[in-house]
Amino acid sequence: MQARLSQPSLLKSQSYINGEWVAAASGETFSVSNPSTGEHLIDVADLGATETTLAVEAAEKAQKAWQATTAKERATLLRRWNQLILDNQDDLATLMTLEQGKPFAEAKGEVAYGAAFIDWFADEARRLNGDVIPSFAKDKRVLTMKQPIGVVAAITPWNFPIAMITRKVGPALAAGCTIVIKPSDETPLCALALAELAHQAGIPAGVLNVVVGKDAKAIGGVLTSHPTVRKLSFTGSTPVGKLLLAQCANTVKRTSMELGGNAPFIVFDDADLDAAVEGAIASKYRNAGQTCVCANRILVQEGVYDAFAEKLAARVATFKTGDGFAKDVSIGPLINTAAVNKVDELVKDAVAKGANILVGGSKATEAGAQFFEPTILTGVTEDMAIFSNEIFGPVAPLFKFTTEDEAVAMANNTPFGLASYFYSQNMARIWRVTEALEYGMVGVNEGLISNEVAPFGGVKESGSGREGSQYGIDEYIEIKYMCIGGL
Ligand code: ADP
Repeated sequence: MQARLSQPSLLKSQSYINGEWVAAASGETFSVSNPSTGEHLIDVADLGATETTLAVEAAEKAQKAWQATTAKERATLLRRWNQLILDNQDDLATLMTLEQGKPFAEAKGEVAYGAAFIDWFADEARRLNGDVIPSFAKDKRVLTMKQPIGVVAAITPWNFPIAMITRKVGPALAAGCTIVIKPSDETPLCALALAELAHQAGIPAGVLNVVVGKDAKAIGGVLTSHPTVRKLSFTGSTPVGKLLLAQCANTVKRTSMELGGNAPFIVFDDADLDAAVEGAIASKYRNAGQTCVCANRILVQEGVYDAFAEKLAARVATFKTGDGFAKDVSIGPLINTAAVNKVDELVKDAVAKGANILVGGSKATEAGAQFFEPTILTGVTEDMAIFSNEIFGPVAPLFKFTTEDEAVAMANNTPFGLASYFYSQNMARIWRVTEALEYGMVGVNEGLISNEVAPFGGVKESGSGREGSQYGIDEYIEIKYMCIGGL
């Protein structure tokens, strides 16, 4: 595997704690494999609760000195790390395609997108201004200052193995927090390579720690119960998010939760249909449908339903499914066989209840065991399981609606509220529908909305807190109020 990298030292099989590479105390390892081929890639040290406690202690020891650095010093280190990530874009993308499966061009895109959060928050470090507030008494002065929250824990998923980490580490480090990261055990190699580059950038020992292990419950148990950890930032599924929120309650930790979505993608009669097709493709099929902001329910007004379905089908039929390193492949594998089976069941349930398969519809076994054909279903209705479940696969179910009110009601008929999208050329409708959608993010005539300058986050059971943008760093600071009396 090392031979595939121009900087072989980026391939790591041990965790990174207190500036050092650490094996499991138990000596245990686990296998990381390629979801495209099933091929074993490497054995990685399998750490647990004991090492997680050591990582938290290392982060605690490093925190005060890190907080005491100037914003400019932190920004300089973060910029160096950002530059090293960009300099090693191909290697990081290679690791990502190998362990996660996404097409190499998409993986390169994620590396750049991920680095952008570090660059952004390097700048934000220098804007953590306090206030001098007009006083409530002649002999007193009222001030605020922003201080880092302390030691932070981050638990991250496999679908964006780099960006979901940098979105948390960038603002945490910029604010003066130190961090312990638990990446998904499906994709530890990207996380460990990021740690190696942070090390090369000169980020001090203990400031950034990565603990890799199979026993998420044990590692998460320490991160959510240790009194030193003052904040948990989690990206993952809603059920695990709820569990972690409950665990954090005992020590009253701050939390940011980026949980599941069930994004509606609404196409109105007055939409530019070609633009809507392109938007749907970008939003639905990126990362083989494995993003929490992927269009999950495509709602199309009856007057354009058939025309939209036909145009979408013409484009989707040209997609090539296969290994992420193969030429022109746009749909890679799903992360594991459980994911493939879940998507297959959702399609079968819809078909059994009357949906039609316009394109695809089955496991793409000729490409490999973990592939699913890019699929379009028509005649899909709200009683089918696919309406209320996050698909996390390359399947586009097309629902039909008649009125704007009906579309908004269908869109909001879910406990989730992360991303939503709609296409319309009518300005009054654009305002009405944007205001009515119960979602943290609304893409209007746009299917790709994630960017470091914009606040990413959800409402309802999709979570709390925002990542990226001028607001993202607020998640990692406390506001201290200072009252000076006796003047
Ligand atoms: P996904 O469907 O994206 O895998 P999960 O919520 O299962 O979503 O996983 C997201 C992250 O949460 C991963 O790093 C996973 O290992 C971790 N995780 C899963 N279960 C737990 C748990 N009980 N405690 C702590 N972390 C967990």
